[in-house]
Amino acid sequence: MELVLKDLTKEYGSKVALDHVNLTFRAGVYGILGPNGAGKSTMMNLLTDNLKRTAGTITYDGTDILELGQAFRGKVGYMPQQQGMYEEFTARHFLQYMAGLKGLAPREARRQSDELLGVVNLHENKDQRIRSFSGGMKQRVMLAQALLGDPEVLILDEPTAGLDPEERIRIRNYISQIAGNKIVMIATHVVSDIEGIAGEVLLLSEGKVLIKGSVPELVASIRGKVSEGMIEESKLPELQQQYRISNVFHAGEGKLRVRIIGDCPPEGFAPEDSHTGLEEVYLYYLNQSL
Ligand code: ADP
Repeated sequence: MELVLKDLTKEYGSKVALDHVNLTFRAGVYGILGPNGAGKSTMMNLLTDNLKRTAGTITYDGTDILELGQAFRGKVGYMPQQQGMYEEFTARHFLQYMAGLKGLAPREARRQSDELLGVVNLHENKDQRIRSFSGGMKQRVMLAQALLGDPEVLILDEPTAGLDPEERIRIRNYISQIAGNKIVMIATHVVSDIEGIAGEVLLLSEGKVLIKGSVPELVASIRGKVSEGMIEESKLPELQQQYRISNVFHAGEGKLRVRIIGDCPPEGFAPEDSHTGLEEVYLYYLNQSL
């Protein structure tokens, strides 16, 4: 199971949305992290064959996915960002309908639909219309439909968009539960969606991969780049112009303890890496690329 993107490029007119991207995916959970406009959806749409690439190749176990056609599409489960198209269906009918589109025979479609509604904990709601569901329940229905046919490649575009923290955690747990022996890609701009579950994180900006690695590797790569120091409250705007601020704590008496990200901290600041996380990695590299 190896999915390889080689010099993958997508231009919309003169806009380069993906710029010679080279990546290899094997079984595991990958977080594709980047701000809006980074090229995440473009990459997902090229992988799901919803969009034509400008240049480069995407191969699955050595053969281009365009050549594989349905043989590849049948192995891919996709959870798109948009929802709200099937409000009048019940959860169960929606899944059976999607299973039909994926080519599952009716009996198998019914079996998998019921099983997957159980996996995402919607068994008791299976005969209710999707219209009546909360955002989190709708996301779980979309996750269930992506799992129909037991795909080898699972592509999730902003799986927790619009959810409250409790629902986010629940969706995240489902994703790591079902990951198993699959290539799972999670595109997001929300760091917490992937920090605990991704084996590898790719940071994408303006169509390019800025850096990739495991969370501990990425955190280690910015060792010494996060510093803390005390300043007068009035000095904050000035500091904000020069540095990315990761956190500000009120220290009393008009003073602030400030956590900043950057290569050369101001005088009086000292490196403080003990709780550096992926969010600071993200801020550091994005800032570097601007
Ligand atoms: P992301 O999913 O990371 O937010 P996208 O892949 O949607 O990023 O977009 C990447 C870039 O391509 C953005 O600059 C966006 O404006 C541009 N883009 C996306 N779709 C189109 C399109 N259909 N026509 C022109 N430009 C587009």
